[in-house]
Amino acid sequence: MLGLLSTGGCKSRQLTVPTIQMDIESRFWVRVLLLDDVSSCTLTSVSPLSVSKDWIIPRTRTTKIRIEKVDVPINIKLINGRLTITGQMFAGNEAVIFPDDPYIFNLNGDDYRGNLRLIVNPNGKSFDAINLVPPEPYLAGVVGAEMPDYWEAEALKAQAIAARTYCFYIKKRFGVNRTWDVRQTAANQVYRGVNAESTRTWKAVNHTKGRVLTCRQTDGTQEVFPSYFSSTCGGHTENSTNVFGDSFEPLIGVPCPYCETVAKPKFFFWPMIRFDKAEVADKLLRKYPTLKKLGKIISISPAGWSDYGKISRLTKIEIVGSNGKSDFLKAEDFRLTVDPTGRKLKSSICQIVNWDNYWAFLSGRGWGHGVGMCQYGAEGMAREGKNAEQILSYYYPASRTKSIY
Ligand SMILES: [Zn+2]
Repeated sequence: MLGLLSTGGCKSRQLTVPTIQMDIESRFWVRVLLLDDVSSCTLTSVSPLSVSKDWIIPRTRTTKIRIEKVDVPINIKLINGRLTITGQMFAGNEAVIFPDDPYIFNLNGDDYRGNLRLIVNPNGKSFDAINLVPPEPYLAGVVGAEMPDYWEAEALKAQAIAARTYCFYIKKRFGVNRTWDVRQTAANQVYRGVNAESTRTWKAVNHTKGRVLTCRQTDGTQEVFPSYFSSTCGGHTENSTNVFGDSFEPLIGVPCPYCETVAKPKFFFWPMIRFDKAEVADKLLRKYPTLKKLGKIISISPAGWSDYGKISRLTKIEIVGSNGKSDFLKAEDFRLTVDPTGRKLKSSICQIVNWDNYWAFLSGRGWGHGVGMCQYGAEGMAREGKNAEQILSYYYPASRTKSIY
């Protein structure tokens, strides 16, 4: 997923936000991994807070530490494998921080809503920090990070439903086996907490409250699916099978005449980019050590593509080595290995050219993986008067919407 906005800190921003619903059933709360494998962090809060030994909703009286002083930095670190909060050592391997109303805490400079769970890793040398947040405040922090908040209201609503669906799919598919559901980065979908919120993103989230997309599953049931989205498809969205390897009826790829008029030309058609061959080889071998069996990498070329007429997206890359052997990578995996930010090598709609000491990528179109909703296309449809339902049924054909709470 791609964060479109870079928002600065705005801790004191006043928003017209309805009362945050904190009493929603615990199974709907979202667990966002904010810090992974750290040894310390700093917390502040505009309201008093309690620290408990575990997370139970509705809350029962298990408060171990009560901190009444507000706006004072609270240092959290590990001492002898134990969480230590404002100098008080905490028994057990976890602690949960519950700020009072308005339920906002600041972690290392950024504001988030909800609670903060700290879990010591098995090695006793580091801990993870996980934001436990009801779905609507979570989504308010996603929509404003994934789309400019001045975009059409119907595009923002489509984004809210797609993001809610994606979140609940990931939660169901992966969350059950770990202590968190989603990362806050483009690896899942970008979440910037309170800093990404605005009155308009809150409206989009609340007007679609509880609504998700579903599709027919292989067992015949109607359930949520991974409703991927990306910035600019370049003219045709892509079948998920070619990018992520999964297969759902709404993720088949559709023509998109909408993003070209909304995206800036320099983003829709990206300029030639080249990477040093030694650097590319190094990145590939580090991420895919089995490629060492090929010897020195001597050729990188397209081995599969989706042909959509004037647009062709690479789907498979062949890598040939000096000992004559070859191997294949999904084009999207290749792209994000060569450029993990995805900001230079923006998409796999491009040509690959062997150019002296460089691999050059030409004739690039679009930005992102291209699966599911095209965000610039959604804005284009909304500007033409389409509503959120129409946008979603266009980019996710054969999907339906339903309310889950
Ligand atoms: Zn598009």
